[in-house]
Amino acid sequence: MRDTGEVSTVTAPDPLLTAAVDVARAAAEEEAPGLVGEHLGVEADDERVATHLFATLDPAYRGWRWAVTLVRAPRAKVATVDEIVLLPGEDALLAPPWVPWSERLRPGDLGVGDLLPTQADDPRLVPAFFATDDAEAAEVAFELGLGRRRVLSFDGRVDAVERWYVGDQGPEAPIARAAPAACATCGFFVPLVGALKQAFGACANEFAPDDGKVVSVDHGCGAHSEAVVVPSSPSPPPPLVDEYGIDVVGGPLGHEPGSVGDGDTAEPFGHS
Ligand code: SF4
Repeated sequence: MRDTGEVSTVTAPDPLLTAAVDVARAAAEEEAPGLVGEHLGVEADDERVATHLFATLDPAYRGWRWAVTLVRAPRAKVATVDEIVLLPGEDALLAPPWVPWSERLRPGDLGVGDLLPTQADDPRLVPAFFATDDAEAAEVAFELGLGRRRVLSFDGRVDAVERWYVGDQGPEAPIARAAPAACATCGFFVPLVGALKQAFGACANEFAPDDGKVVSVDHGCGAHSEAVVVPSSPSPPPPLVDEYGIDVVGGPLGHEPGSVGDGDTAEPFGHS
């Protein structure tokens, strides 16, 4: 008799049903022997319909209550048990509210072999201008880029643009801010076709972190095709040796200091 959806105007429970606590308790005890606690009260559900509430002693259902609904036929002098259920009280332990899978789903949740049906009224899609059951016409349409039953709607495009532009492949990504130039001028940038081509393309540089991903025209990275070539490092200079603090025992020509030939001047090794 509970949760019928009908609004009851009865505020006071039927006196006969209110007094039938023992009837309600006996019914609850029959349902859960030894697990029915103190009487918590009685509520009016409707005319000649009332529910007695008892605490449950079951430790697995802390805060729950036995609800025993009694009814009485018009002019009847006895209460009849209508329903016995265990209901959560205010401090009952409850599972979190159930959330439909379509609201729980997050980007990246789809795994191998999973199916993700798209709703018929998905706002991201609109019917295509050309969809036919004629196989020949469909083949031609497919070659022309037509023939799909639904295409991206304006809302779907806006969602994608916002998602891509503020993401890791947009202009504000750290790698883009440090890039020497934007993707728009890169030889590895492959523009998209259609409505998004002015703002996005695909990166086709296998050495770029965004290879194979959609990037915005003002994204960029250090693998830009026109990045300045770094010149090779110059050869290191010969080592400088301080010969004023050491005894030089041999020169590059095998001369002993002071035994050079006529006209020669003994120069320290490494000095010009
Ligand atoms: S290599 Fe770098 S600059 Fe060039 S398209 Fe890819 S991400 Fe853009």
